[in-house]
Amino acid sequence: MFDAAYASGRHLPARIMAAAGEAVLEVLAPTRCAGCERPGALICERCLAALELIDPRQSCCSCGAPFGVLQCTECAGAVLDHGRCLALAGFSGPLPRIIRAYKDGGERRLAPELAELMLACAEHAEHVAPERYGGMLTQADAVVFVPATAAAFRRRGFDHMERIAQSFCLCAGVPLLDALAKHGSSDQRALGRASRQASAQGAYEVVASVQGMRLLLLDDVITTGATISAAAGALVCAGAASVDALALARVW
Ligand SMILES: [Zn+2]
Ligand SMILES: [Zn+2]
Repeated sequence: MFDAAYASGRHLPARIMAAAGEAVLEVLAPTRCAGCERPGALICERCLAALELIDPRQSCCSCGAPFGVLQCTECAGAVLDHGRCLALAGFSGPLPRIIRAYKDGGERRLAPELAELMLACAEHAEHVAPERYGGMLTQADAVVFVPATAAAFRRRGFDHMERIAQSFCLCAGVPLLDALAKHGSSDQRALGRASRQASAQGAYEVVASVQGMRLLLLDDVITTGATISAAAGALVCAGAASVDALALARVW
């Protein structure tokens, strides 16, 4: 018997309807790689292979730069003093495009993919360089993230690091702590090095109890290190026992 309500899909479970909606979208606008536009995956195998991965056995523990194991020419050991710093890859190859597609291109489905890459990076570092990065993930009491400015949040409609941190914590089984608030709206990308450091100073307020906690701080790109340094400094001032930092990319 023909039933108009059934035919219109009103009786179909929401999950099936959502899957059908996704299938239609996939036909109208097929998934393309954020790094190279090839159809098929959000980040294709070729772009994954093209990432300029940083070896955690050779990197600078203070700023995440590659080859800073003995003496870092990027930071002179001055970025993090209460924790270690690790980055997945250089800000080169397909990575800048992928990050842009996520932050400014509205491709929010990249959040779990980027979280997975960051998680794999931390696990790998703990495994191959336990004397340098041991415990940064497995002994963290909570994960925190560098929050977006109010202006960036309004422009993008979401906090890009919060989303990555949510996926990261779900996979890692570590609690997420929304501990930092960002003041001021100056866009870091528009400022030079000196003014970046000045504007990052005191720009973060700790809005949750972090007393005695070992924290893992997530951010997308480390350029001068001023942002993670200010955020980690605020957490340490608020009583955190240690703050390790993990980023997707390191510019050098
Ligand atoms: Zn690609
Ligand atoms: Zn360094």
